[in-house]
Amino acid sequence: MRLLVVEDEKKIAAFIRRGLREEGYAVDTAADGEEGHFLATTNDYDLIVLDLMLPKMDGLNLCRKLRRDKASPPVIILTAKDDVKDKVAGLDTGADDYLTKPFAFEELLARVRAHLRKKNEPAATRYRAGDLSLDLLTHRVERDRKEIPLTAKEFALLEYLMNHAGEVVTRTMIAEHVWDIHFDSCSNVIDVYISGSGSSSSTS
Ligand code: CA
Repeated sequence: MRLLVVEDEKKIAAFIRRGLREEGYAVDTAADGEEGHFLATTNDYDLIVLDLMLPKMDGLNLCRKLRRDKASPPVIILTAKDDVKDKVAGLDTGADDYLTKPFAFEELLARVRAHLRKKNEPAATRYRAGDLSLDLLTHRVERDRKEIPLTAKEFALLEYLMNHAGEVVTRTMIAEHVWDIHFDSCSNVIDVYISGSGSSSSTS
């Protein structure tokens, strides 16, 4: 899953990016509204975390613009503005959720998971394929009830593949949803990951 964080406060942006990456998400960041709009319209994100008070284009305007495009991903507004009327305005522009600063990172994560689930399969917290199972909440992967230890990136890749079981996924799709903007499309890193994990799952 690939997320975009639009946040002009560098420390907060770095904190959110680090935390989300530790959970296996690919994360890009934008430091102002225009950059956020550019990235959101040129990449295929699964979810956007959006600050409201931003230079160049504020979050509400950005959200409104994104909502004109029906394929826009879920948007979670994250802001210091905690007036009821600000919340209402945010939700009315088409945001899916609203979290006020200061926030508990665990809560942001839970909301991210909830919205990604809604987008994909409602209430699914576990994927299964044959004797392979992947738990989205505990990040535990088991084959035939034996745990398979995976790195965060391996887990993210497997999650993407299991979420698209039975479908053809291209290298570009994988790169766009599992890696961030710094991914080098000329590298063979996806092939390395797939063949690396394939050695233990050659039957699937
Ligand atoms: Ca701000």
